[in-house]
Amino acid sequence: MADFGSADLDTFRADVRTWLEANYPAELRDPGAKVDPEAMWGGQAFLDSDDLQIAWMRKMGEKGWTAPTWPAQYGGGGLSPAQARILDQELTAGRYRTPLASFGVWMLGPVLLEYANEEQKQAHLPKIIKGEVRWCQGYSEPGAGSDLASLQTRCEDKGDHWLINGQKIWTSYADKADWCFCLVRTDTSKKHEGVSFVLIDMRTPGVETRPIQLISGESPFCETFFTDVKIPKENLVGKVNGGWEIAKRLLQYERQNISGGFGGGGGAGGTAGDLAEVAKSYFGLDASGALADTDLRSRITQNKMNMQCLGLTISRTAAEAKASNGPSAAVSIIKYAAASFAQDRSELMIEAMGHQGLGWEGEAYRPGELLATRGWLRSKGNSIEGGTSEVNLNVISKRVLGLPDPK
Ligand SMILES: Cc1cc2nc3c(=O)[nH]c(=O)nc-3n(C[C@H](O)[C@H](O)[C@H](O)COP(=O)(O)OP(=O)(O)OC[C@H]3O[C@@H](n4cnc5c(N)ncnc54)[C@H](O)[C@@H]3O)c2cc1C
Repeated sequence: MADFGSADLDTFRADVRTWLEANYPAELRDPGAKVDPEAMWGGQAFLDSDDLQIAWMRKMGEKGWTAPTWPAQYGGGGLSPAQARILDQELTAGRYRTPLASFGVWMLGPVLLEYANEEQKQAHLPKIIKGEVRWCQGYSEPGAGSDLASLQTRCEDKGDHWLINGQKIWTSYADKADWCFCLVRTDTSKKHEGVSFVLIDMRTPGVETRPIQLISGESPFCETFFTDVKIPKENLVGKVNGGWEIAKRLLQYERQNISGGFGGGGGAGGTAGDLAEVAKSYFGLDASGALADTDLRSRITQNKMNMQCLGLTISRTAAEAKASNGPSAAVSIIKYAAASFAQDRSELMIEAMGHQGLGWEGEAYRPGELLATRGWLRSKGNSIEGGTSEVNLNVISKRVLGLPDPK
């Protein structure tokens, strides 16, 4: 990765702009363009699809810009942090669609780069970058959520393969995933030191997924069962019984990424649309043209300020993380704040709509109102996913502030 001066960066920006304009499918500029909402997650189901989103993902994947800072030898963009920032800025300024949403890019890839052997990197990173494989995360179990190291899914050494038996829960999109990165127990006599990190092809006999329906009415996650699942020896990443360190590192990447996702659209619980504008359309304006309800106005303003500060802090810490050794435990501060502000925003959105914000279905409600109700319910998960707010406060007190464990 070369070190670039500002003149080089200006040239790079111009090149990026030209390339994006030339390669973005023209039809995607149309806000009404038809794309499968699932396509953005990629995976084998979409490999041969002629969906416009997939065409865009392919272009960006071939260029390595779905994983801009990953090394070019694995198909990544090989960009410096400064160049990656420019690419981000150009994608935002030009209102380009996100080419690929991926647990592989957000969570697994960074830890493979850090902990995997060369064969594993060659086998998995290029497919992640091109969106050819959709990954899910097999961490939580019915008896192991916050206390993740209590996990019981057994992984036994059978000489020429590993044999896996156990159950995971809350596995987001497991029913749609091609592969799973999974925490398993390889030693029952120890807790943290008995955990290993393995990669499981979801088509392996003995893997079963059962979707769970949420209060939002959606079913984005599953129970995942492993019954006598045989996986090759080479699917264990890092050292046998050395998975806990990888697990924690991956959680830092996860927290960093989901915090960034809490800000806007419906996916992570937010509801699309400008909160102040929505409130004005329901409550009307006062003589000065401001939102008529002064209490709601000040709470919306506070939330917008919080969101704005959070966005700037996320950009700054993400840039710092790219320039150094990846995220640190301090990402728990951002995850905690992001979850809290996103939940406030969802509450305010419902309040701004009055009774209309409590609809479930039917013609009495507009699509945006129904989305707000579901977004509000979904936002309840913001302080649970990727480690609960209480657990993140524990991480902050121990690993950031260096406070002792309570007696
Ligand atoms: C939207 C969503 C998506 C998810 N996706 C995935 C996924 O893809 N893969 C996956 O593996 N998991 C996933 N999860 C699961 C998630 O990681 C767990 O729900 C979470 O870690 C909490 O575990 P738990 O549900 O077992 O709660 P518990 O650990 O049982 O916690 C219950 C309550 O006790 C509190 N608590 C527990 N321990 C402490 C402590 N030491 N100090 C203070 N308070 C404590 C918690 O904060 C919580 O309020 C997802 C969850 C959500 C909501």
